[in-house]
Amino acid sequence: MSKEKVILTGDRPTGCLHIGHYVGSLRRRVELQNAGDYRQMFVFIADAQALTDNMDNPEKVRQNVVEVALDYLACGLDPSRVTLFIQSQIPELCELSFYYMDLVTVSRLQRNPTVKTEIQMRGFESSIPVGFFTYPVSQAADITAFRATTVPAGEDQKPMIEQATEIVRRFNYIYGETLVEPAILLPDNAACLRLPGTDGKAKMSKSLGNCIYLSESADEVQKKVMSMYTDPTHIHVQDPGHIEGNTVFTYLDAFCRPEHFERYLPDYPNLDELKAHYRRGGLGDMKVKRFLNAILQEELEPIRQRRREFQKDIPAVYDMLRRGCEEARNVAASTLDDVRRAMKINYFDDAELIAEQARRFAER
Ligand code: ATP
Ligand code: MG
Repeated sequence: MSKEKVILTGDRPTGCLHIGHYVGSLRRRVELQNAGDYRQMFVFIADAQALTDNMDNPEKVRQNVVEVALDYLACGLDPSRVTLFIQSQIPELCELSFYYMDLVTVSRLQRNPTVKTEIQMRGFESSIPVGFFTYPVSQAADITAFRATTVPAGEDQKPMIEQATEIVRRFNYIYGETLVEPAILLPDNAACLRLPGTDGKAKMSKSLGNCIYLSESADEVQKKVMSMYTDPTHIHVQDPGHIEGNTVFTYLDAFCRPEHFERYLPDYPNLDELKAHYRRGGLGDMKVKRFLNAILQEELEPIRQRRREFQKDIPAVYDMLRRGCEEARNVAASTLDDVRRAMKINYFDDAELIAEQARRFAER
């Protein structure tokens, strides 16, 4: 029975959230929340993790905490059903990470594909901050502190969840069944696993500046869509075009639903027909981009509207986060109690230990 599900995900407050986050994880979270098929759901703002590669710019992280919270609320996450919290306010996570560090080797971290790519992306090859290098360990702490079973995330997070699972298994093997094994919940739509940037680069990412943000105005979105990367060999309308690697079609795969054709492009029955025409030649990029723009605007407009409403009362957003942090802390503290007991470092709660030591010394 999936009422046993505990769902957890987070985002780094390094910028506002974009449509890659939306299709990769955020949209799924809202669906899961609305289906109600879970015991608990946690969504957190990973500010401590964001500091691991932004330590010289704490202001950026601080400013973006509330932006991410607004994006959550705007997308429909509901604080009465989901615990929304800020990572740094849960000190238990540091303590868990500290113990987990002993269960992981340096070479295992060096082999983690996500760490490898992200080190490269940030030009950290010659000087990796230790905190950044060990962030899979702190991510294992985030996941296990809340006994998460299910982590809805994009494909880039797969190696992270694998590493967390290894830590759980090793902990349970050494100290006895204590921690819960997590599983990643990937988007079922292939285009959403890793949405490319508007420049056609492999991943839309805050750090690469190739994003369409959920909070952007209709005009800005339209401008970005109209200048998106398509197929560089499709120069004249009559030329045959390519769908693979064509970002506009990848976004259509991620966002287009059958009813969009009736509404915005009634000449075509479905996406397959549109693609076939593009491949044959005779279909211009502009027409496809206008279609994509209409779809995106339809999806983003209600999000923008809700955001504007929540923006009117920022102190209420902080209050909501404070309450979320309190709830989250209770859960993390109870897991930490289990961990300390399993590791036998709960000296003062262990009457048996004290009695046993007293006897040992009495016999001397
Ligand atoms: P940063 O560049 O600071 O790492 P980011 O844009 O990669 O930021 P994260 O906060 O690292 O965003 O990712 C948050 C969540 O969104 C993760 O679950 C991640 O898998 C998902 N995600 C991020 N970018 C994409 C994308 N382009 N396509 C699909 N999912 C994505
Ligand atoms: Mg990232």
